[in-house]
Amino acid sequence: MSDLKFCQGPECHTYFTQDRVKGPQGHKTNQTRRRSSLYYGNGNFCDMRCQNDWFYKYGTQAVNYFGRLNEAKHLTEHNAWTKDYDYDWRATDNQHSNWRFVNSVTKEQRPLTEEQYNDSNYTLNTGE
Ligand SMILES: [Zn+2]
Repeated sequence: MSDLKFCQGPECHTYFTQDRVKGPQGHKTNQTRRRSSLYYGNGNFCDMRCQNDWFYKYGTQAVNYFGRLNEAKHLTEHNAWTKDYDYDWRATDNQHSNWRFVNSVTKEQRPLTEEQYNDSNYTLNTGE
C-alpha cells in the first residue's frame, strides 16, 4: 500500500469510474486514483485528462517559476546534434544498430556507441 502513488490531477476525484470508488460499505467515496505506476506526465498522472487539468490550473505559474522564455532560441550547427539509430523489426535479438549523431543543420553524421547513445549526458552540443 505504501508505495502507491497518488495521481496529481486536481480534479481526479471528480471523475466517475468504478476504480475511483473506495472505502467501507456504506461510506464509499469517489477518490483520487492511486497506483504503483502512473504513465502520464513523468509518472505523476493517471491519464491525459488529469495531466491537462494540472497544466490548466498550474501551468502558467510553473512556466513563470522555472523561467519564462523571453527571446527566441536559435538552432545552429553548435546545438543541432541529435542521436539516432537504425531499427530492424525482423531481427530477434539486437534490433538496433548504426548508432550515430546527426547534425540537423549541417547534416553531418558521427558514429556513436550504444553506451554513448544511452548516456543522456553525452552530447556534442555546446550551446542551448
Ligand atoms: Zn487522475
